Amino acid sequence: MKDIKIEIIQKLIKYNIVFTEDIVNNINNVIGNKKALIITDNNVNRLYGEEILKKLNSNIRINNNVYKLYFDSGEATKSLKSLEKIYSFLIDNNFNRDDYIIALGGGVIGDLSGLAASTYKRGMKLIQVPTTLLSQVDSSIGGKTAINLKGVKNIIGSFYNPELVLINNKFLNSLTEREFLNGLAEVIKTAIIGDEELFNLLNNNNLEQIRNNNKLLENIIYKSLLYKKDIVQKDFYDKSIRRVLNFGHTIGHVFEAHKDLDYKHGEAVSLGIKFASLFSVYKNLLSDREYDKIIEVIDSFGLPTVIDKDFKFKDIIKLLLQDKKIVDNKINIVLLDRLFKPRIVEVTKKEFKTVWEWFNENNSSH
Ligand code: NAD
Repeated sequence: MKDIKIEIIQKLIKYNIVFTEDIVNNINNVIGNKKALIITDNNVNRLYGEEILKKLNSNIRINNNVYKLYFDSGEATKSLKSLEKIYSFLIDNNFNRDDYIIALGGGVIGDLSGLAASTYKRGMKLIQVPTTLLSQVDSSIGGKTAINLKGVKNIIGSFYNPELVLINNKFLNSLTEREFLNGLAEVIKTAIIGDEELFNLLNNNNLEQIRNNNKLLENIIYKSLLYKKDIVQKDFYDKSIRRVLNFGHTIGHVFEAHKDLDYKHGEAVSLGIKFASLFSVYKNLLSDREYDKIIEVIDSFGLPTVIDKDFKFKDIIKLLLQDKKIVDNKINIVLLDRLFKPRIVEVTKKEFKTVWEWFNENNSSH
């Protein structure tokens, strides 16, 4: 028998990221008379969810076809249990493929809702309405969806794009400072790996100035998204260049996952940025002067550059192994050739240990 060759040409994927304060009208215009399920968490529900639902359902054209489900806030919501609850709701209310899920919340809600949308009836429509800085600059675009299982983060997931992303930076007014900084760490990362103008904006403005200046904040979000968009267009499935977005994340994940430490993602990433920058100096890539500039920016926002607990190298290795980051005693890490020029480099466990010792000797500067 001759082989049968199958060739499937996938269609071009396009969607818009719209900056708007009018979330309701934008949603109305897209969903028309279709059903929609808003998925949110309890905080966002209280602050915005109720009101958005009411306004959407006051549109006579769509006849109370918008529903809402909300979950506890926090990482634990990215679970099979939550996913099952969403599927049950969709089945009970006869949702179809051309109906919508609206993810209203931070990255937790975005990741969970995205996975539900990508799998229910093999894919229904999705609108992302990110409400944290982290989700506005990072998780709402790029199409990665996920839940956690058996304590392993993002182990079940898919690549699935939304139809529309709506960014309203007014949502960010109600974020705590810690949550705002959590997202700002990803902005700092983006600036370091690829955007000198963004880096200068961060250098020249403090937290208060950024939070109180809507235009500046919008510009910062815009620039971060533009960089991520370019990378995602080149390597949607994360096989090559997209990995540079993991700058600061290799060891950052270790700090985030360790049970004795209590770092939020962005805080762990800021420690990871310091580690990766130090590694770049160790490898004679980054200059001392550029290293100092990086640490200055992180420090200026009060993000951590020093771990406040005694932490053993063997703990790091254990977690890196668990995370499948070490293969044949080698680790792939994103380093910097210089500022704004990331490079994926294979390093040895021994080199990692040396830089870890440097990292510990170094408090806030090298
Ligand atoms: P989150 O969704 O848990 O939100 C943080 C907190 O802020 C929650 O308590 C939430 O209730 C609250 N909140 C949300 N919006 C608010 C608002 N406008 N005002 C006041 N409080 C508000 O966390 P996050 O930092 O947005 O996202 C983290 C998640 O994103 C992680 O699960 C991570 O794995 C995921 N992530 C995904 C990607 C991706 O590409 N898919 C990228 C980065 C991170």
